[in-house]
Amino acid sequence: MKCVTCGDEILQERAELGFTYCTRKACVRENAKGFTVVEIGQTKTNAEYVVLEGAAGERALKDMREGKYRRDPVVVKRESATTDFDVPKVGFRKAKAQRPVAPNRMKFVQALQAQGFGVDEILRRGSYMNLTRSEVVRYMSARRR
Ligand SMILES: [Zn+2]
Repeated sequence: MKCVTCGDEILQERAELGFTYCTRKACVRENAKGFTVVEIGQTKTNAEYVVLEGAAGERALKDMREGKYRRDPVVVKRESATTDFDVPKVGFRKAKAQRPVAPNRMKFVQALQAQGFGVDEILRRGSYMNLTRSEVVRYMSARRR
């Protein structure tokens, strides 16, 4: 099959997919037509996307016209201004303290740091003690003891 624009042969796979033009920039620009896509917002989940083409597109357009995707307003009961709400007192947990420093681990990290090793190299060498990146960074910036 030949490209409708430049007349070159189109890849067979491409022709089988229904393309009538080749992949040359000029031919694509000339022939490609974009899709019109609508995003349908959903409640509590990702939006749905519908290509407005073919039967599915027609259906989506019809649904939209008929208000299928319109959300009814939420009606909240109004309380009079004098209503006394019983608001429970809630205490917030204190922020978790940082994990205590393990002196031997810190010594290991700082010794390597003193030899000029970076975080990645220290992580690699300390892998046998399951050092984490955040731990290494913390020890590297900690005051020396
Ligand atoms: Zn072409």
